[in-house]
Amino acid sequence: MASIKAGQKIDRSMAAQIANGMKAWAESKGVTHYTHWFQPLTGTTAEKHDSFFTLKSDGSPVETFDGDALIQQEPDASSFPSGGLRATFEARGYTAWDPSSPPFIMDEGWGRTLCIPTIFISYTGESLDYKAPLLKALEAINQAAVDVCNYFDRNVETVTPTLGWEQEYFVVDEGLFNARPDLVLSGRTVFGHSPAKGQQLEDHYFGSIPERVYAFMRDFETEAYKLGIPLRTRHNEVAPAQFECAPIFEEVNLAVDHNTLLMDIMTRVAARHKLRVLLHEKPFAGINGSGKHNNWSLATDTGVNLLAPGKTPKTNLMFLAFFVNTIKAVHDYNDLLRASIASASNDFRLGANEAPPAIISVFIGQYLTKVLEDIKERVTKKMDETDESMLKIDIHRSIPELLMDNTDRNRTSPFAFTGNKFEFRAVGSSANCANAMTVVNTIVAQTLKTFKKDVDALIEKGEKKEIAIIHVIREYIVASEKILFEGDGYSEAWEKEAERRGLPNVKTTPYALDAMVTEKAKHLFEQNNVYNHLELEARHEIELEKYIKKVQIESRLMVDLATNHILPAAIRYQNTLIENIRGLRELGLSETCAQRTQTLNKISEHINQASQLAGEMVEARKVCNNIENTREKAIGYCEKVKEAYFDRLRYHVDKLEQYIDDREWTLPKYRELVFLR
Ligand code: ADP
Ligand code: MG
Repeated sequence: MASIKAGQKIDRSMAAQIANGMKAWAESKGVTHYTHWFQPLTGTTAEKHDSFFTLKSDGSPVETFDGDALIQQEPDASSFPSGGLRATFEARGYTAWDPSSPPFIMDEGWGRTLCIPTIFISYTGESLDYKAPLLKALEAINQAAVDVCNYFDRNVETVTPTLGWEQEYFVVDEGLFNARPDLVLSGRTVFGHSPAKGQQLEDHYFGSIPERVYAFMRDFETEAYKLGIPLRTRHNEVAPAQFECAPIFEEVNLAVDHNTLLMDIMTRVAARHKLRVLLHEKPFAGINGSGKHNNWSLATDTGVNLLAPGKTPKTNLMFLAFFVNTIKAVHDYNDLLRASIASASNDFRLGANEAPPAIISVFIGQYLTKVLEDIKERVTKKMDETDESMLKIDIHRSIPELLMDNTDRNRTSPFAFTGNKFEFRAVGSSANCANAMTVVNTIVAQTLKTFKKDVDALIEKGEKKEIAIIHVIREYIVASEKILFEGDGYSEAWEKEAERRGLPNVKTTPYALDAMVTEKAKHLFEQNNVYNHLELEARHEIELEKYIKKVQIESRLMVDLATNHILPAAIRYQNTLIENIRGLRELGLSETCAQRTQTLNKISEHINQASQLAGEMVEARKVCNNIENTREKAIGYCEKVKEAYFDRLRYHVDKLEQYIDDREWTLPKYRELVFLR
């Protein structure tokens, strides 16, 4: 308990006893194997199972699980991304037990495994996973937030960030899924004409859940409960075949583990129902994409939610301090937040007029906007002239108003205050929330530290504590004004306005990732002991490589599908038309084939264009493959491959889909994928 609560070390003899207890518990549940469960930077979870069974020197069998096996393992790490941190000949990587996340039993039907959540680090101690830096960020914010809390309440000893994620996903029939090589290999359809009916009738949102999907949901929820994942909400989403689930919020580390576990469970349980889950951010063009809202707040060990307006003027001042510090953090480090959610798949979603824009801004609602304006107006620059009544900000009495404001909350904002928490909405549906959570917690930690310094400086000059606090709050409000935006985040007007305000609007991953390796970022992460320079550079490299590979795979898929599915089908139908026209001519009915000739010409044109573009894209890839520098190569893949060819090639293929005989078309169409269940 001391280790979980206060981060104290667990010695070997204690570990041995804990291991014994875990083994006894696991065996009583029919477990035969154990594994260190970790989250490498591939984006999936990893495990390597060992059985408790071993042989003694005399050859007799025993079942053991000792403290060392619990605390540390050495999986062969050479095939996990390390961004150059670990040369393959130095392939050693270690997993180390994270006692703050409970072990669990994975029941996979054919056997049960004791899973021990671990961090994954290199031989020299650099982190190779999502969890290690997250734990460090949580430690950083704990210290910084406790310090600020203690201005108001000396009893607060720990502050724990909380996370409630909302997971959006699509469900499609397994048979149809398997007939789409693009879905199988990339999780996204690279081609596909919009169906006659899409989401325009908005008849799917919150509608009754289709029976087969409902059975699947109940099944994966049961599996989730077995693992202690407190799922609470399920509903249809906006797009046809799109759904959402959400748990009750938990401590960030646990919530992250539970989300990665759930994504795994959903995928496995779907197979039982002959369904497939699509966690990709944008499986279907022209239909809403999927996100993973991260609801985030801070909780004290005294049971206070620091982002919930208080009941007295004093607790309101505490609320305001944390509220304004969060806004300031987003203002100061918005480029890092953008980088934390950047991926090839999320690029299809951000700024695509249905998801948060690539511009990071904060929505706080009408009422709190007014509160901040009041403070700005009424807290004068000169301390001694401060109207002390200003300290009696009574947000509590206005809570009904606040709630009303929030029922009408802005869905277009990437970072919105929703009554008692902030909601980071730009996180992608397939992402590990740890990345976003590491950044949110680190930047707020840093801002709180500076806040404390600023307040202390005023107190040292002889100011009263509350006066000092409200003054620094005012200063921060003024300094971060430009990040606040209450309007429609999807509008073109906002893009222009944001540009005028000097807010970055980085639409593609290779550029968004630059923020990870600026001097400012290196300073921030180092000061808070989250990443050293090497780790940051390695991560930057890994993210760029992931981007390159994803775009490369999709580009290959497009060419493959065009070559072996689309063009052959188009040519078969072209031949049918040619024969038909020839026949009519032979019969002397030339004048009746005008329309068919027109169609034939169109088809021929699209065939020519599609094969021309596919060929050119292959050449463009070859050029990019020769680029040495990873960042330049990623930019090459982004601009010279993806942006230059994806939409253009798709245009011709989707046209062909419209013209060709349905019997010839080998790929399931959108209307089948999203409407058949
Ligand atoms: P909506 O879809 O309206 O945004 P949901 O009810 O689907 O809302 O999700 C809200 C999420 O926010 C839930 O996971 C909930 O547990 C979580 N949440 C509520 N309070 C907090 C908090 N203090 N800290 C973190 N998450 C919270
Ligand atoms: Mg939400």
